Order: sequence, then C-alpha cells, then structure tokens
Amino acid sequence: MLIDTHCHLYKEYFDNLQEIINISKNKIVLYFINNGCDNKSNVEVLETTTKYKNVYGALGLHPEMVENYTLSDIKFIENNISNDKIVAIGEIGLDYHYTKDNKEKQKNLFEMQLKLAEKYNVPVIVHSRDATEDTINILKKYNVKGIIHSFSGSEETAKQYIKMGFLLGINGVVTFKNCNLKEVLKNVSIENIVLETDSPYLSPEPFRGKQNNPSNVYFVAKFLSLIYNISLIEVANITTKNALNMFKKIIY
Ligand SMILES: [Zn+2]
Repeated sequence: MLIDTHCHLYKEYFDNLQEIINISKNKIVLYFINNGCDNKSNVEVLETTTKYKNVYGALGLHPEMVENYTLSDIKFIENNISNDKIVAIGEIGLDYHYTKDNKEKQKNLFEMQLKLAEKYNVPVIVHSRDATEDTINILKKYNVKGIIHSFSGSEETAKQYIKMGFLLGINGVVTFKNCNLKEVLKNVSIENIVLETDSPYLSPEPFRGKQNNPSNVYFVAKFLSLIYNISLIEVANITTKNALNMFKKIIY
C-alpha cells in the first residue's frame, strides 16, 4: 500500500475524484493527503475528506498567498484543525523564487501557522523554495515536526531537516534526468522518506509535462526501489510506515 502525502485534489484539476481514486487503487495507492493552499481550497479539502473515506486533508496558506489572505482564513484553519480527518497544517512555508521583496510578510504568515501547529500538536507540510536557511531557522524556533515537501536540496540540508525530526517528501522530480537528488538520496536512509506526487504538478518520467495524478506515486516508489536496491513492496512498507508514524490520525 502506498500513500500520496501531498496532492492538490481540487475540482479545477480533477472533476471526477472518484475516478482518480479508483485508478490509484489499481496502482496500490490507497490514501491521499489533499493539501490546501488558500481559503477556497481549504474549504474544498475539508469537503473531500468528508466525501471520500481515503482522502485526508491538510489545511494551510501557501506563501504565494501572502498578499491575499485574511485573519479569518487563519481562523478557519484553527476551527477545523481538530477534525478527525485533518492530519496536518500545510501547505505552508517560504518561497523566494519569484520575489524576495515580501520576505518578512512570508515569514510572518509561516510563523502564525507554525504557532497553530505547536498549539494543537499537529504536523506541518512545508514548502521551501530558494529559502533553505530561513526555513531551517524558523522551524527551529517551534516545537513542530512534519514533512519537507518536494525535497530537492543537498545531503547536508537533508541531514539537518532529519535531525530536526522532519521527513523528506519525494516526488516525480527524483525521476528527472538531470536531477542530482538520486545521488543525495543514496546517502539518506529511506526511513526518512515519504512519497508524494504534488498532483496536478510534477509528473514523474515517463509522463513529465502531462497532468499528474496520485496514482503516479507508484512510479516514484518504483524509482526509489532502484535507488535503494530493494523491492517495490519494501519501499511501500517502509514509506507507508513512515507516513503513518507522522500522521497518526490516518486509520490504517
Ligand atoms: Zn503542493
């Protein structure tokens, strides 16, 4: 059994979610964590967790929303964080890729949500792009753990996150030809890894460029079985165990 710990199963991308769930079953992908990124998607995430047994949710405000959120959007997260099927606060973090001009605002939004995670003792799902140093320094201020989503950093960065109690979320990026991540992972134990797709983005090879869906987590698992030279079943067992240890609300 495989778990897609990071996807965006919104209506605008997937108009028939039941079909996607059925396709995923054929590839032994049985559980999904639908990640919100703004208030609209957080509302949808909550709806999908009510409607579909195998869909769990994370509620969060993405750094790209830094100019557009209100305090009531934060309140919505807090009001629903104790829901049985909301397993984390995410997708939250820092993204300096397009602009560094709003760094302080981004940090503030990130920290407001980390405070909630600490207060309610729930894991976080962290987006960090071109912002490793600030991400690490901020996470160190809080008593939180969780997933570094779409990890693609250096071995040194990987080890720092692991030491802080975080797992690395690995997706289709690892299958890309010019990606150094495979070399990094050879020196990182699979005990620190969970699988994800980031659907509808980041399709793995051989589907790169097409719309991604959670069933493709199977191809990420297959690729890891080659990197670690273990069977697909072992990859499934270990990464699923890692995810279940982190997200205690998932009923297996
Ligand atoms: Zn995402």
